[in-house]
Amino acid sequence: MPKILQLKQHVADLIAAGEVVQRPASVVKELMENSIDSGAAIITVEINSGGMTYIRVTDDGCGIAPEDAKTAFLRHATSKLKDAHDLEAIGTLGFRGEALAAIAAVSRVDLMTRQAGSNEGVSLSLESGDVVDTSPTGCPEGTTIIVRDLFFNTPARMKFMKSDRAEGSSVTQAVLRCALSRPDISIRFIKDGRTEYHTPGDSRIDSCVYSLLGRDFEAGFIKAQSADEAVSVNGFVSTPAAARGNRSYQFFFVNGRVIRSQLIQTALEQAYKNVLPSGRFPSCVLYITIKPGSIDVNVHPAKTEVKFYSDKQIFDGVYYAALGALEDSKIFNIESQYTNPVLQSDNTTLYHDSGSIFNTTQIKEKIILNIPAEHNINVKTGDTSMHVPFDVIYDNCISESSGTYIPYVSHEVSGKNDIRTDMFLCPDPIRVIGEAFNVYIIIEYKNSIWFIDKHAAHERLHFDALRSSNYESMSEALIMPVICRLGHEDVSLLLENDAFIEALGFTVENFGDDSVAIRHIPAEIDIGDTESILSDICDQLKKGGSAVPVQRDVIYKIIACKAAIKAGRSSGKTELEILAAKVMSGEAAFCPHGRPVAYEISKSTLEKIFGRT
Ligand code: ADP
Ligand code: MG
Repeated sequence: MPKILQLKQHVADLIAAGEVVQRPASVVKELMENSIDSGAAIITVEINSGGMTYIRVTDDGCGIAPEDAKTAFLRHATSKLKDAHDLEAIGTLGFRGEALAAIAAVSRVDLMTRQAGSNEGVSLSLESGDVVDTSPTGCPEGTTIIVRDLFFNTPARMKFMKSDRAEGSSVTQAVLRCALSRPDISIRFIKDGRTEYHTPGDSRIDSCVYSLLGRDFEAGFIKAQSADEAVSVNGFVSTPAAARGNRSYQFFFVNGRVIRSQLIQTALEQAYKNVLPSGRFPSCVLYITIKPGSIDVNVHPAKTEVKFYSDKQIFDGVYYAALGALEDSKIFNIESQYTNPVLQSDNTTLYHDSGSIFNTTQIKEKIILNIPAEHNINVKTGDTSMHVPFDVIYDNCISESSGTYIPYVSHEVSGKNDIRTDMFLCPDPIRVIGEAFNVYIIIEYKNSIWFIDKHAAHERLHFDALRSSNYESMSEALIMPVICRLGHEDVSLLLENDAFIEALGFTVENFGDDSVAIRHIPAEIDIGDTESILSDICDQLKKGGSAVPVQRDVIYKIIACKAAIKAGRSSGKTELEILAAKVMSGEAAFCPHGRPVAYEISKSTLEKIFGRT
């Protein structure tokens, strides 16, 4: 072995620089982070040749005192930390004191800076980390750093650089992330003389997203929010329809820091599990705020990963924010289809307030059920309008005369005196053509032919019903109880979770050591399936308990699937019509397993096929 020697400072610096500065994008990221930490309101980033020859970052932040300017370029020199104690709650993006030293070690750097309120600033030039020039200067308040000829003195590193175009697009990505992270800062990005981005800095997430990602993107986003004492989440997630084939538009920010996180990604995607098929991914811009003491940001040299002290808090925060957004979007979509969702009714006709949309519509007698006095809906009879208490299920409203019908109107009461009407009304008539193979409903709707998978549609609708907060199971009392031999472990599991099991529509009684007696089952399932369903439910309960929402969803899927099989055996015309209308009103786009529910062939496609265009 050769003799052991301590490395020369210059060599050690180059090695350290390699960790922080890997390519132009990492330089831009570090410089932008410094500008953000300086309290800037406006930041300008400019690059030429992918950042290889020229990078400039200018801010209007606090500036650097002339006597500190040289120190800023020393390794482990920082104004953001004083002692080890400060490491426990880092409130700035930087804290390692390495970036300027690392950048300067592998390039030619010019610094111009003036502190707010000072008459004079300072300028400094460095080459390979050595100061080659310094002088007082008159410059605007704030800081400009110019980095030229990156890696000119480290040919080995230079060899790893990709084309200027590729490096330039990594820089663009880095600027995008930084700019998204702070809607309150106006960020301009100029690439080879052309302005690529310019954010307004008005603190609005939507205008920031709009200026960086464009109108289409912003239009596919829905607001997501959740907060508890530990974690708050704020931002946007994509509608299922705006999902993409990759994850490149998933942006997560924790306390203003751009991060990558498998945990957060999983939480987001779990929320979409029931609305997206595999291979489709949600996009998002999510800002997560937690106490600085509950994360460790000092786990990665480029600070792009963090460690959370409680993974569960973060997971739940993101999961519920996304889930809530998806549920709200359902209401939003429905409302937005109807300009005026007030129903008019004279007990034999039910039509939309805007007039003639629904022709005379026969309403079956059982429509008005069980009306609690505290809820009202505006119902019009001829010219008079009255408030009618409302716990109504308008079901099976078929228009005999015109083929236009209101297939299903239900409501959800989300709180006292707060009435939400979910109306699954199709604005356009649907014509059911028939059913193929006892599986696919074929319909004509607007300018398309649709094929609907009956089983998948049933499953989806049933699954949604089970999941909705005000679901009340329709239990069927059995004349003779079903005895299920499930084994000792499963029996005690079912009895422990009896409230949850009951909410699903079963009543379970102990029947000896290894059996239960079932006196009620959900009306939608077959009596013969009881034992296998309960046993599947037990398997899921063993994995995680009924309290975990993801777990609960799996159980709902089991029941929805069995109910769909039962419902799907033979269908009358009315049932096909109702199912088709529900699907077309957007209620069921994918089955709970992620398979599509409906498939569209447009008239124009058919015309192309048959050479009619
Ligand atoms: P860190 O950001 O981890 O502190 P850096 O090497 O990036 O380390 O920067 C060193 C120091 O230089 C910072 O702590 C800060 O005091 C100063 N500095 C760097 N950039 C700026 C800037 N744009 N405005 C004001 N001060 C800056
Ligand atoms: Mg820094």
